[in-house]
Amino acid sequence: MGKIKMTTPLVEMDGDEMTRILWGMIKEKLILPFVDLKTEYYDLGLLNRNATKDQVTVDAANATRRLGVAVKCATITPNRQRMEEYPELTEMWKSPNGTIRAILDGTAFRAPIVLPCIRPVVKNWEKPITIARHAYGDMYKAVDMTTEEPGTATLTFQGESGAEKTVHVQTVKGPAVWQSQHNLESSIRAFARSCFQYALSQKQDLWFSTKDTIAKVYDGEFKRIFEEEYERHYRVEFEKLGITYFYTLIDDAVARVVRSKGGFIWALKNYDGDVMSDMVAAAFGSLAMMTSVLVSPDGTMEFEASHGTVTRHYYRYLKGEKTSTNPIATIFAWSGALKRRGELDQLAELVRFGQRLEDASLETLESGVMTGDLLSLVEPGFQARSVDSGEFLDAIAARLA
Ligand code: NAP
Ligand code: MG
Repeated sequence: MGKIKMTTPLVEMDGDEMTRILWGMIKEKLILPFVDLKTEYYDLGLLNRNATKDQVTVDAANATRRLGVAVKCATITPNRQRMEEYPELTEMWKSPNGTIRAILDGTAFRAPIVLPCIRPVVKNWEKPITIARHAYGDMYKAVDMTTEEPGTATLTFQGESGAEKTVHVQTVKGPAVWQSQHNLESSIRAFARSCFQYALSQKQDLWFSTKDTIAKVYDGEFKRIFEEEYERHYRVEFEKLGITYFYTLIDDAVARVVRSKGGFIWALKNYDGDVMSDMVAAAFGSLAMMTSVLVSPDGTMEFEASHGTVTRHYYRYLKGEKTSTNPIATIFAWSGALKRRGELDQLAELVRFGQRLEDASLETLESGVMTGDLLSLVEPGFQARSVDSGEFLDAIAARLA
């Protein structure tokens, strides 16, 4: 049987530590034997980012804009401790994900990989709940201050035209604390478009929630822009696919989400998304089973695992020990990217391969062969044994073949 052909390359961003080791193994055991793989390769490993003064990250992001699909390995974001660990670093390079997100103007969608032998803490969740978190502004770009004496605060905007707009914030009788937040119409609109695009690509309902009954102007703007985008650009396609866009108050959304069966995308403002994504991740089980997709307003997609480079396992690996590091989220990054590439290039074979890769991975887990991290999560009575990463990938490869 010949290998599956590709027409357009995908952008491949290599990374660091244990996930870089898994990356090589996944390609060797699960992809290259079956696919005539075409990639544009960028080494985002820390040392190459340093050697290129981080230009490689910018190049990889620009290539993603050009080619439309990327797959990324987890990477080290250097901090002070890393500067000591790697004395050759000439700078504390910024988070590659931050750089890529800014260039793609993208929104990150985080989805758990679910299977019957690992039940979510919320019993009625049967399908994944994908969280889309707006990544700009609000509390994260706010200014704060405290004051000691009685007095009045106002908020003033000075237009470049010279026009001014002022609102009275509050008059206080004693010490007080203050905060001022903003967001950008363009950023909210890009967020909305990424959400509608991703819902269409996943053929899933999109929920959006804010607190517009209280923040009538601020959250009201979010609600208005989403509605406007939906009516103008997406309603027809949503109706064709039989999916819905559903807006509700955040408190109502939380109650509905907990009672739901899952299987939808939940878009949230920056802070709400920060909190809810950790809640949903914890309830579904494990960071090693979370995928993440960065989506641009034009539908460009970059796929990756949600977890980091699994440093502790890497140091055991360097000592020659076998590690039982879970490759599932990284495999799903590859399968997601291959499926998307296949969809864009109308290569049904490639789409089918991506799906078979996911099915073979989940069937392997369901057969009771898994990495150590999952053993404590399986349902009582489920017979499972822990294997190292290489054996686990071999078991998936055997099913694929
Ligand atoms: P991490 O790499 O996600 O690992 C934290 C712990 O979670 C691990 O020590 C391990 O626990 C468990 N874990 C995570 N993924 C696993 C997997 N696939 N299989 C088995 N266990 C897994 O987070 P971190 O240690 O905070 O960060 C390490 C580095 O990753 C940092 O340099 C950070 O900058 C980077 N990072 C990158 C990204 C990204 O590129 N998207 C995201 C987050 C962090 P046990 O050790 O208990 O087994
Ligand atoms: Mg958080």
